[in-house]
Amino acid sequence: MATKLLLIVVAIYRLIVTVGLTLSPTEPFQLGAIRLSTNTAELEEASVDFGRLGRSEPVAVFRPSSAHDVAGLVKAATSGAGAGVGFPVSARGHGHSINGQAHTGDGVVVEMGRRIGENGPGAPKVNVEKEYVDVWGGELWVDVLRRTLEYGLAPRSWTDYLYLTVGGTLSNAGISGQAFNHGPQISNVHELDVVTGKGEIVTCSEEKSPELFHAVLGGLGQFGIITRARIALEPSPQRVRWIRVLYSNFTAFTKDQEYLISLHDKPQSQKFDYVEGFVIVDEGLINNWRSSFFSPSNPVKISSLGSTNNEGVLYCLEITKNYFDSQNHSVDQEIEALLKDLDYIPASTFTTDLPYIDFLDRVHKAELKLRSKGLWEVPHPWLNLFVPKSRISDFNEGVFKGILGNKTSGPILIYPMNKHKWDNRTSVVTPNEEVFYLVALLRSALENGEETQSLKYLTDQNRRILKFCKDANIGIKQYLPHYTTESEWMNHFGDKWGHFNKMKTEFDPKRILATGQRIFKPILDTNDVALR
Ligand code: FAD
Repeated sequence: MATKLLLIVVAIYRLIVTVGLTLSPTEPFQLGAIRLSTNTAELEEASVDFGRLGRSEPVAVFRPSSAHDVAGLVKAATSGAGAGVGFPVSARGHGHSINGQAHTGDGVVVEMGRRIGENGPGAPKVNVEKEYVDVWGGELWVDVLRRTLEYGLAPRSWTDYLYLTVGGTLSNAGISGQAFNHGPQISNVHELDVVTGKGEIVTCSEEKSPELFHAVLGGLGQFGIITRARIALEPSPQRVRWIRVLYSNFTAFTKDQEYLISLHDKPQSQKFDYVEGFVIVDEGLINNWRSSFFSPSNPVKISSLGSTNNEGVLYCLEITKNYFDSQNHSVDQEIEALLKDLDYIPASTFTTDLPYIDFLDRVHKAELKLRSKGLWEVPHPWLNLFVPKSRISDFNEGVFKGILGNKTSGPILIYPMNKHKWDNRTSVVTPNEEVFYLVALLRSALENGEETQSLKYLTDQNRRILKFCKDANIGIKQYLPHYTTESEWMNHFGDKWGHFNKMKTEFDPKRILATGQRIFKPILDTNDVALR
């Protein structure tokens, strides 16, 4: 407690020395045109994230109205760095990280969210002719979608959940069932405005400052704060046929998933638009919170299908076909032609049909239900892994059928993607094979639940899963990675580490940005290189 107090005093001292101001803990304070807030509620919001695994309170919170505001803050933060003063700056999108990646304990959190109706960054601007939209970095994807739909257009590549910010997902990758076809969200960006760690506003793209452009995409916030992104659009389909089929045989399941993603180059009529899947281990039900598909009053029992394997593990393939109203007559035939080549349990086909926006926004409905039961703001020890195709069956044996036993405490997603749809020049790291899977263990801890739902139990299990992967040399890469030592980060980046490090020196030489990722330690008092 005393140490924490001391740290806060030192941090405030740094801010005061750097910007030459007096500070009252309850009053906002002015830094030129910049107004920093120390309001208790705002500090509290910036101290926690979706993971709820830890808490780290910033010294102040800043809500920028423009890229110039962000640049002003970064300049102030670096003006004294290296001489014993200066402070870290972390952009915070919607705070949906798991391990404090948007936190900073002794600096300023930049709340990038755009408050609709307030003076500040403008709403998304759609260019209909060129099919792109320019958006503020803190824009929520759901608001991007609402805006573009007014013009009959929509982004091509998504995340499963839309209450995430553009800058937050582009700092990771942004993936969902469309990634096999269009690549991750970072493969669907034309241009960025970035405030670098030197406080410069740089417009970058494939042509302009390409090094910065590629470094920032998947760059975990290390090289700059994204203030504008130009995102590719396509004509928006009107409806979606959403289909789930079940497998008891893992090999048949993955073979079909891999077959479906191999169709990426076919015309739209000869492939699905979205390919995901999930593992069904416990509760015996096909529904889960992430997207309840069937009526909760009439849940589908696994046992009623009469076709489980010995371990009681089932696999659900989830696919969709987008269509325009004008294609209503042909969609059934197209789906039938695709389904006939698949090897799922006969009579295990579940289909629903809904507007495109309702499909894309499906997880939000589940969120509202969980919130109403007080089950949303609980700890989430989530683990997201990229697993190479050649080892996915070892992963199934060791983890789904092994370590997890018969209880998962949350959805487990599994779906493959094509590596060539990812640009190797970006900062994101994926396994060394053309096809790799996302395995997402999206578990919630309930302290008053069974032992198998406790945070300790789930965290231990995550550790065992990572250890299993290491011992069996599976070659996984963490998605939304969380490490705390330099050697772990070096191992994560592999042969990209040297370049990553070089880009850091180039674009954020004082290492003040996104310190919550725990990759680099800011150069404030000493010449420390990285966190231990
Ligand atoms: P934050 O958590 O606030 O920030 C994440 C990192 O990015 C931090 O280091 C932060 O400093 C940095 N950052 C934030 N904004 C900027 C900016 N403008 N410029 C530079 N750096 C910035 N991910 C997927 O890919 N697919 C999914 O389907 C998916 N579903 C999810 C569902 C839920 C319910 C949740 C909680 C998360 C999901 N995610 C998914 C993960 C999500 O993409 C990451 O959490 C991501 O960080 C986005 O969250 P955010 O916008 O809240 O960013």
